[in-house]
Amino acid sequence: MNDQQPESVAALIAGPCSKIAEAATAFPITTFNTLMNAPFVDKICRITHEKQGSSSYSKQSFPLHCGIYTEIASTDYVFHFNLSGEIIRAQGKGKNWWHPHEWLKRTRGDDWVYYSTGGYTGVFEAIGEYYLPNFAYPSNSLLGGHPFAEKEIKNLEISWYQTLTKLVGSINNLPDPIRRFCADTLTNTPACLAEKARRLREIVGGRISVLPPDARHVEYNLIPLTIATGCLHKCRFCKVKNSTPFGTKTSDEIVEQICRLKDLYADDLVNYNALFLGEHDALQAGADLICFSIQEAYKKFGFADSYIKAHKTFLFGSATSLLSTSEHLFKDLEKLPGMFYINIGLESADQDTLAKLGKPISAELVREAFLRMQEINNRYGNIEITANFIMDGDLPANHYPAIMELIRERQVHTKPKGSIYFSPLTFNQPSRTRLFEFNRLKILSRLPTFLYIIQRL
Ligand code: SF4
Repeated sequence: MNDQQPESVAALIAGPCSKIAEAATAFPITTFNTLMNAPFVDKICRITHEKQGSSSYSKQSFPLHCGIYTEIASTDYVFHFNLSGEIIRAQGKGKNWWHPHEWLKRTRGDDWVYYSTGGYTGVFEAIGEYYLPNFAYPSNSLLGGHPFAEKEIKNLEISWYQTLTKLVGSINNLPDPIRRFCADTLTNTPACLAEKARRLREIVGGRISVLPPDARHVEYNLIPLTIATGCLHKCRFCKVKNSTPFGTKTSDEIVEQICRLKDLYADDLVNYNALFLGEHDALQAGADLICFSIQEAYKKFGFADSYIKAHKTFLFGSATSLLSTSEHLFKDLEKLPGMFYINIGLESADQDTLAKLGKPISAELVREAFLRMQEINNRYGNIEITANFIMDGDLPANHYPAIMELIRERQVHTKPKGSIYFSPLTFNQPSRTRLFEFNRLKILSRLPTFLYIIQRL
């Protein structure tokens, strides 16, 4: 504790609740919070309870963590925990750790993701973010190495709990709130966290096999809510689809899901201000169900009181659902809080490519949907419709020229909105040729253009 600390605040940290109230009145709230969050330091570790991270997601070339979290740092490791005492990040500090700015993140789906700088060369240009997610499961990334093959990283992924138990067990004289917090973190064993991830899947109706690329704007920290299952087209090429026919949930089912999710996210709910409406074509669920779900979630999850600023909602759509959606939805969304990102899987504007992919829609429909996207993006400040096109080494000759016609020739000026994502078809095959191809497309495009790295929850 700081020697300069006023006497009444010293009493507050050691003393009963009445002293807390007294000190809270005696000091401005910012001073009060700072003193409450003063780190506990001893010779083997430093613990900062409920550290106040950034309250907004911003793209920085140094690690800037958002939300309120507790940090336990030893000479060898740093661990971060959310407000429910669940581990959310881990980092090694030894000389074998890849880079001092790189870390492991644990998702709500209980995956560990390694965030690397990629040497900072070209990562931001390619994906619009400074840190590249590397997964332990198959994905379509063209960049990155194999961090999970590294001993230091793999060890931390599999033995963080044993390391933490040993570390916490060796600290004496922990002050009360920190002692309770440490006890909580130890109740969240890997088995317990896996069980919570299983409960999440059970609530939303299964593993979320893919999140929209726009979710990068909130580092994929969102609450999923399934309002419709399956998708319309069941395209042959698609590796993330399921066999469920398209169907919508009832409003009662959605309300029940929200209540159960609220229970699951518990104390950490305040660290979320983003919603994903699943599954693969929530836009097809119709204006009434979409607006109902957004409003219910906003109210019940308490997004208005989130620690994180700027509410965001993400969903997928298809060319078919976009063209059948009336203006009425976009007008309604304009009146709701936050930004709305709708990602449309177009894949190609060339008929031969669509046939090769087994996507049962016409190139004409793709072009119409693309024009509709432009209209909506121009008309509504709080809505961004983005689109995906595929990349592969063995596509019909007109695939890229047909896309260029849309993203370059038809655009008189460059635009800041309406991102285009290129999604490599092959999984686990980083390729310099594809990357070179992508860079050429990006340079020519008059719309913001990025690579789509498929990420699940
Ligand atoms: S690309 Fe979209 S519409 Fe086609 S199968 Fe996959 S999820 Fe369904």
